[in-house]
Amino acid sequence: MERSLEALRKELNYEKTNNCVQCGYCLPVCPTYMTMGKETHSPRGRINLVKMAGEGKITDLSVLEDPINLCLGCRACETACPTGVEYGAILESAKAALTRRKTFSVPVKTLRNVLFKKVFPSKKAMKVLGNGLWFYQKSGVQKAMQKVGVLEKLPYHMGTFEAITPNVVSPKERSSLPNRINARGKRKYTAAFFTGCIMDAMFQRINRLSIELLAIAGCDVVIVENQTCCGALHAHSGEIEEARELAKRNIIAFEQEKVDFIVNNAGGCGAMLYEYDHLLSDEAEWHERAKQFRMKSKDISEVLDLCGGIPIEKGKAERVTYQRSCHLTNVQKVHKEPLKLIKAIPNVQLIEMNEAEMCCGSAGIYNVVNYEASMEILDKKMGNVKKTEATTIITTNPGCLLQMKLGIERENLSPQVRALHLIEYLAEAAGIS
Ligand code: SF4
Ligand code: SF4
Repeated sequence: MERSLEALRKELNYEKTNNCVQCGYCLPVCPTYMTMGKETHSPRGRINLVKMAGEGKITDLSVLEDPINLCLGCRACETACPTGVEYGAILESAKAALTRRKTFSVPVKTLRNVLFKKVFPSKKAMKVLGNGLWFYQKSGVQKAMQKVGVLEKLPYHMGTFEAITPNVVSPKERSSLPNRINARGKRKYTAAFFTGCIMDAMFQRINRLSIELLAIAGCDVVIVENQTCCGALHAHSGEIEEARELAKRNIIAFEQEKVDFIVNNAGGCGAMLYEYDHLLSDEAEWHERAKQFRMKSKDISEVLDLCGGIPIEKGKAERVTYQRSCHLTNVQKVHKEPLKLIKAIPNVQLIEMNEAEMCCGSAGIYNVVNYEASMEILDKKMGNVKKTEATTIITTNPGCLLQMKLGIERENLSPQVRALHLIEYLAEAAGIS
């Protein structure tokens, strides 16, 4: 075989495409196939395109761009696949191959470099971002901007997203997050808490509540120094080398503490942490260390469940529904624990929505870069949410949380309906603010 084709096959994870028998069992669970109705925008079609590129039948890789970029990466196809096709690995390598060949304009290249190399991996930069957002929200600038209608003119529908941005904590509260907190009562486990980059900057209240709930459930909680962004945003944007570097930094950081679990509260980040061993599979020493890391990596719902749950005497008498995080369900295979924790709250009635396994269309920054496609998927999701007549939508991932808030706004369901992270909901029911 020609050397360059052999190299391309390795780059594209071509071998993994051979496991696809083209049966189509994945088609009904694929949101992009269901909304766009095109074979090229289905799992089977995308796998076929990568396979054809690996066989030299497609020589211009830009043909793959639209189908690959419009994939949400929700991995529902993997869960449905009877032959165990590793779609996530195929998608990731196709994205990286396209990114390596793409010529970005100077402003876009600069922005990508700044965000991926300087902002997301830097705790300092994310802190500045969080504090800047707090100032923007509290100083009156936000109100003034909304009043003059500037935000609606921003590109990528940023005005729409600005309206659903959570209220961030003050700089004082941000800097008071403890490094260590002891279990209330008898210690059951020691957990290292993964703070994340976006979670730390924009959802620090959820992080704080997570630590508190872990301690109430019986965990000593440690916030490991030098931890960094998980690399999910990088990997999903084709910046695979950068993602590997971040994975190594996190492995080194968490190896410093002797803990039972490495706990996260964001389905997307959790999936990335959980797959560090795949990400580093080409480097023997790192692969072994990543496997150890993976074994300890858990979603917070798993750990709370292992601890026996949170003591809650009385919840709000209401109907709620649960919007699954695709990465939590399809990659980490965590589904029953969040449901168990919700069902254990007295008075709360959990109604599962139709097509619960379908992605909400958030998918990292998919809703920003592919707004129309994302909104079509969201509208379908909200149709199912409305049928449950739930007054609270509970999620386990920040992207899904914002997308649900956006769905509530689009359907004019506010203030009767709200969206909360599972941790916020549990804390509220337990009387913790
Ligand atoms: S990851 Fe999701 S959107 Fe992409 S092909 Fe699979 S099911 Fe479809
Ligand atoms: S990815 Fe799996 S389910 Fe989908 S067509 Fe291929 S073998 Fe069938």
